[in-house]
Amino acid sequence: MKIEYSKKIKQLPPYLFAEIDRLKEEYKSKGNEVISVGIGDPDLPTPDVIIDALNSAARDSRNHQYPSYDGLLVFRQKISDWFIKRYNVTLSPQDEILSLIGSKEGIGHFPFAFVDRDDHVLVPDPGYPVYRSGTIFAEGIPYYMPLLKENNFLPDLSAIPNDVKKSAKLMFLNYPNNPTSAVADESFFKSVVEFAKENNIIVAHDAAYNELYFDDNKPLSFLQIEGAMDIAVEFHSLSKTFNMTGWRIGFAAGNKDIIKGLGRIKSNLDSGIFQAVQYAAIAALENYEQLNRTNREIFQKRRDYACKRLDKLGWKYLKPQATFYLWIETIKGYDSKKMATKFLQDEGIVVTPGVGFGQAGEGYIRMALTVDVKILEKVFNKIENIKW
Ligand SMILES: *Cc1c(COP(=O)(O)O)cnc(C)c1O
Repeated sequence: MKIEYSKKIKQLPPYLFAEIDRLKEEYKSKGNEVISVGIGDPDLPTPDVIIDALNSAARDSRNHQYPSYDGLLVFRQKISDWFIKRYNVTLSPQDEILSLIGSKEGIGHFPFAFVDRDDHVLVPDPGYPVYRSGTIFAEGIPYYMPLLKENNFLPDLSAIPNDVKKSAKLMFLNYPNNPTSAVADESFFKSVVEFAKENNIIVAHDAAYNELYFDDNKPLSFLQIEGAMDIAVEFHSLSKTFNMTGWRIGFAAGNKDIIKGLGRIKSNLDSGIFQAVQYAAIAALENYEQLNRTNREIFQKRRDYACKRLDKLGWKYLKPQATFYLWIETIKGYDSKKMATKFLQDEGIVVTPGVGFGQAGEGYIRMALTVDVKILEKVFNKIENIKW
């Protein structure tokens, strides 16, 4: 039998990094060292206090059975306490918070609750690929909103055509932004609330990097904006905040009817998060101030070091106020794939070509600060050797 994939699967774009993966293997097979600054996965270990909480909760047999769909109420209560302290936003633990198996899971499933065939979904370009794939699986049509330098990497809402506005059900946004590292200000968020209300569009704001900020410039929660609770949910993740990418835990917060819709999809597809992991997440939030400060200090040192070296090279980039990404303009005569290939072929350094995040990402490469300063030093020394 010939195995036929669904139209949805076929509609997903081809794997852009296949060529890079091939070159990486080739470079390695010659006995050379490859250093990756391509992946947004922190190299730092999860703090002990979180691991200890997991250990003791894992030994409690009450946590061995199916967890509740919405998440332990004590976990959601802890999120609600944290949210008031951090953002001064009051959320009901019962119906305005939903735990997720990582925010990727929530984002990927989200369109199933609100999008029908051929509805539009507004998706940032460049952007985290899950906004697009979630839309395609729900048979929606992604409408790409370019994030351009001249607009501070914010979408131009006035450029969205009327017919798209009419058939759009959802808008995905993500600030602090992966991959550009841009941060949104209050006036932009206010204009999004207004736009969403005018056009009956649900806003799904991905706040995965809200706690990874520098110089005490705390990013806003979208839910702080007046009226946002009428039209929005916000996706939060413990992954980047507490170096917990492998643990798979996050949450959605916001409008209760929107949360309910996502909860209905999830209760049909998954069975919640291992409760011991939820207790570990409680320990993380209880120690947020201290753990988060330590983490931000480490990433800020890396950012400062990398920016100094980029300045020395004379390259153009946005100095990040948040996230662990550097969004660097490609060198004259090189597109993003060609530049990434050159990095790899000449010096064994893996970076991500901007076009991998969407057409509007062309003209940039992304470097992730997920290695320590010593390795960054080596990376930049190698970069200085490249003859362009
Ligand atoms: C890493 C990342 C996520 C996924 O986080 P998980 O909670 O680990 O699933 C979501 N959005 C963006 C933009 C990310 O970079």
